[in-house]
Amino acid sequence: MYDILRSENIRGVLLDFISGYPIDVRISLSKKEPIYSVNNKVLDENTLKLLLENRIIDYAGNESFLACPKDASIKLNVILICPVHKVALQKIEIYENKITGAIINAPAGEMSRNLIKRGYFLRCEKGETVFNPDFLYRCENGHVFGLEDGIVANVKKYKVNEDTLNFVKEYFNELNQASNFLSSGGYQIIENRKFKGLSGVDYEFDLMAKKGEQQFAFYFIKGDKVEELLSLLPKLYDISQLGNVPLNIFIVTGKQVNDDLLHMFDRYNVKVIKAEKADEIIDFITKNLKS
Ligand SMILES: [Zn+2]
Ligand SMILES: [Zn+2]
Repeated sequence: MYDILRSENIRGVLLDFISGYPIDVRISLSKKEPIYSVNNKVLDENTLKLLLENRIIDYAGNESFLACPKDASIKLNVILICPVHKVALQKIEIYENKITGAIINAPAGEMSRNLIKRGYFLRCEKGETVFNPDFLYRCENGHVFGLEDGIVANVKKYKVNEDTLNFVKEYFNELNQASNFLSSGGYQIIENRKFKGLSGVDYEFDLMAKKGEQQFAFYFIKGDKVEELLSLLPKLYDISQLGNVPLNIFIVTGKQVNDDLLHMFDRYNVKVIKAEKADEIIDFITKNLKS
């Protein structure tokens, strides 16, 4: 989960979700397929996959949309047209007479006790009752088309997982507090939170700041899996191969890190901050970084 939170692109989407933007769907005219977006930013296939894998969004079933063949608009007004006379249809209420069994249109004058409502019919302006009209559609741009020409697109519905979003909110909250605290202490926050190892690979951190020549990188790890901690070792090794790097790395984790692992991190001059909440991170910074 933390891996994707470090990606600038995903952070943007998450902040939009937190601000309450939904996932919008439109249909691509050229590909006749749905395009998903949040706050006007298109979610490409890979982003959608990451959001799903990390349970930030959940799949919530399929839906079919009819779209205008000229502009792929799915904002359609249905026009009811009589297939015989090609004129507009109107909806009328029909009633059955309990005694005679006769079906009549809207009751004239006073409502009789003998009449039971039987639903609706569509009636042509010329007086014909139509059971199965050919619908025409008009899109928001005024194009009129029938079902035959319309694009039918299969759309997946997604909904934001509120539990995961709460976790993400907490993460951003910790991040903001730590970064505000560093700023107020004269540290400059580095927007491009990446550091290149000797191999040339860029490693992304959750938060980076600098003061003078020294750079400080924070790496957040949450959950019980030790794998995430272990997966850091090759990255740290690669960075350490550069020689005298002015980068001070801190791992922020709530879990108990065993001594063996601590020794390994020590070798790379990496400190582990045991913190569950933002104020514990700030505590650490106050004690260890403020000069
Ligand atoms: Zn008609
Ligand atoms: Zn249209």
